[in-house]
Amino acid sequence: MKYAIIIPDGCADEPQETLGGRTPLQAAETPAMDAIARAGVVGRANHVPASLPPGSDVANLSLLGYDPIANFTGRAPLEAAAQGIELGPNDWAIRCNLVTVEDQIMRDFTAGHITTDEAKKLLATVQEKLGPGHPGGAGLEFVPGVSYRNLLLWRGQRQSAPFSRDTRTTPPHDLTDKPVIDDYPRGPGSDVLTRLMAESVSLFADHPVNVARRKAGKLPATNVWLWGLGRAPALKPFSELYGKRGAMITAVDLLRGLAALIGWRRIEVPGATGYIDTDYAAKGRYAIEVLGDTDIICVHVEATDEASHQGDAAAKIEALSQIDRHIVAPLHAALKAQGDYRILVTPDHPTPLRTKTHSHGAVPFALCGSGVAADAATTYDEPTADRSVLAFDEGWRLMQYFLQ
Ligand SMILES: [Zn+2]
Repeated sequence: MKYAIIIPDGCADEPQETLGGRTPLQAAETPAMDAIARAGVVGRANHVPASLPPGSDVANLSLLGYDPIANFTGRAPLEAAAQGIELGPNDWAIRCNLVTVEDQIMRDFTAGHITTDEAKKLLATVQEKLGPGHPGGAGLEFVPGVSYRNLLLWRGQRQSAPFSRDTRTTPPHDLTDKPVIDDYPRGPGSDVLTRLMAESVSLFADHPVNVARRKAGKLPATNVWLWGLGRAPALKPFSELYGKRGAMITAVDLLRGLAALIGWRRIEVPGATGYIDTDYAAKGRYAIEVLGDTDIICVHVEATDEASHQGDAAAKIEALSQIDRHIVAPLHAALKAQGDYRILVTPDHPTPLRTKTHSHGAVPFALCGSGVAADAATTYDEPTADRSVLAFDEGWRLMQYFLQ
């Protein structure tokens, strides 16, 4: 039996006045997703427990069949895994954004989409001035990533970390145009994080990178913003839990990291951008190619979420139609042609166009294939899912249902 999972990230939404009361899923041209609904079942699943933030990290962990309450340790460790960074039992990974804070207001959580090259130079400076060899710098490693998205590692060696699960930080993208003064880290070890953030201010103020950026009329990176910290999650290999091998196609580091941590292969597709200009057809072709060597192929597409963050209904609808035509349709046809199969379409969490950000709440899913009896559903969308008797309040249990 072969399995395929297609994740249009954040595609679940609300009825839109501008769409005559339809949701983007209803408005989009999605004959392949509707065919799955007709041949199988439509239901709903909640991948973000009320006690956790509605991030793609938590939601996709659940979607992949892991209880996030028991397994989620933070966002940064997943990104570290995506970069192939190993974390020891006493190590912590911390997201290290380069940001622009002016007059205590978060002007830009990306420091004007600072280039990777500029970010490397700034990270080298904080590593040199705040890292090992300086008071309080033992075990610190600033790791450059891509653009504003970098990491700080706290290597514990034999020393236990000052942080705990109660250390609270705020994602800088939640602070855009807001005062930051009440949102510095709190709880165990927060003094360490706050000190590093404060010290980076003077190190960056007259840094050549910022001097050049100001001259060019660009926003400077005023400081590092530390958040999303955690230890490596101890995830059981997927093959051990569910007895199947998996492979992941994604352009997003979080999903790459999750795949690495559960022992799935990662398939890199040229032209996969994580934005609405991604090469949908290439993702579809690669998914079909990989089918022979794996039990489960999972294709994650970020474009739907990206369109929601921009509040762009037309782009969201277009992304859904592209996913349907270039990924769901050909993959479903290839699965049918090779024998027994099951196929599942589901987003991770809702990202309503109205709020332009992730939210808690159930998402609709459709699945069909060998041994799945059809219900009455004829379309794949939120209202159909809301009427369904098939609901998973603990969304991570959907995986068992899909694979049984
Ligand atoms: Zn997401």
